[in-house]
Amino acid sequence: MSVDVRPGRAAEGPMLRLEEALARMLEGVEPLPAEGVELAGAHGRVLAAQVASRLTLPPWDNSAMDGFAVRAVDVVGATSARPVRLAISGEAAAGRRATAGVAEGTAVRILTGAPLPAGADAVVPLEDTDAPPGAADLPDSVAVLVPAAAGAHVRRRGSDLRAGYPLLPAGTALDPAALALAAAGGYGEVSVHRRPRVAVLATGDELAAAGAELGPAQIPDSNSVGLGAQATEAGAEVRMLGIAADRLDDVLRHLEVGLAWADVVVVSGGVSVGAHDVVKEAFEHVGQMELWRVAVQPGKPLCFGRATPAGDREDEVLLFGLPGNPVSSFVTFELFVRPVVRRLAGHTDLSGRQVIRVRLSEPVTKASGRRAFLRVRLTPVDERDRLAGEPPWEASLAGGQGSHVLSALARADGLAVVGEDDDSLPAGAAVDVISLRHVARRSPDGAA
Ligand code: AMP
Ligand code: MG
Repeated sequence: MSVDVRPGRAAEGPMLRLEEALARMLEGVEPLPAEGVELAGAHGRVLAAQVASRLTLPPWDNSAMDGFAVRAVDVVGATSARPVRLAISGEAAAGRRATAGVAEGTAVRILTGAPLPAGADAVVPLEDTDAPPGAADLPDSVAVLVPAAAGAHVRRRGSDLRAGYPLLPAGTALDPAALALAAAGGYGEVSVHRRPRVAVLATGDELAAAGAELGPAQIPDSNSVGLGAQATEAGAEVRMLGIAADRLDDVLRHLEVGLAWADVVVVSGGVSVGAHDVVKEAFEHVGQMELWRVAVQPGKPLCFGRATPAGDREDEVLLFGLPGNPVSSFVTFELFVRPVVRRLAGHTDLSGRQVIRVRLSEPVTKASGRRAFLRVRLTPVDERDRLAGEPPWEASLAGGQGSHVLSALARADGLAVVGEDDDSLPAGAAVDVISLRHVARRSPDGAA
């Protein structure tokens, strides 16, 4: 379906509900094709196929301690008053085969990770013997001061991994522990979904690149920097398309690189009803506009379309036009672009965020008929309130809620969600907060 973008039709028609808009954006969006990637470069990638163990680990019974491999029956009665003396028959070190087995009345000096020698069924830690720590020379004998049960300090073959057994299902986001597990399971490379490619374009005659000298009527392009980082955080490979002037031809020219390379193009600014808002028209030029205006605050004028494949491309490019106000662009990326990018990357949890139930510490007001996402700080509630069954966190506004107030966004721990039908909420009301960061425990005055 195409959207009428003629001036004057702008304010007409109902706004879409968030869920409906997101569902339409996600339509036909599938995880990107699989590729093999070395483990060292696979952090944050999502498995395209299950990883089953190729190895049994530990591969053999081995020692969990530095000490002496013994037969448990030989040291049953050992005490410090009546030690059991065993003759040393050899040594077992990690990475080497044991030089001797353990026969009745003997022990093998063993190091952590070394295979348990034949005949031994327990390890006596060095500390439970009279052997001095760190001695290089192998002693002739050792006095064992405590008894050892069979299996003591022995890590059994296969007690961690078994060859052929599943380790990580498809769809797993590879974190450090998962990567280490894949390596332990015998992999050097895994099959993951290709990273989504996201191109970021800013539009606006008033914009100058971050850090550049500002002309008399200019402001820095902060959206490109923020959106690029949000895309990276969502798992994308990012390319910056720069700043386009508020002219259709310039927006189209800047879009070209993105359309040839990206899976997703994110444009900020120029999606409202102003005389210079040309992004919707640009989307119609390169494909179809599918929707415009969603009932969220901030971020209402958001638009979405799909570009017709160009050149030798067969896959379509998803086009997001986010409102230019910096907080609006951030929030609409979070709500709409992030889930789409995560689906392309192979995630099944599309938000990848924790939602926390909290209590408002102050009354809030918002636009009627739109779902609001207020920038809030979280602080732990008083212990007594918690015992009385209150949620353990309290949300207070992180600063001004205008859609230009980046300082409040940067201070915020999360976005408090206030429903379409609520025009205001009193202090003490319970709300959900989309957590944007790990919240450290703070003193109630909000200091870190
Ligand atoms: P627009 O959506 O183009 O009407 O822009 C709305 C507001 O956001 C205006 O005040 C713009 O100056 C501002 N704005 C637009 N794009 C950016 C950007 N890339 N960085 C910072 N502010 C922007
Ligand atoms: Mg503009």
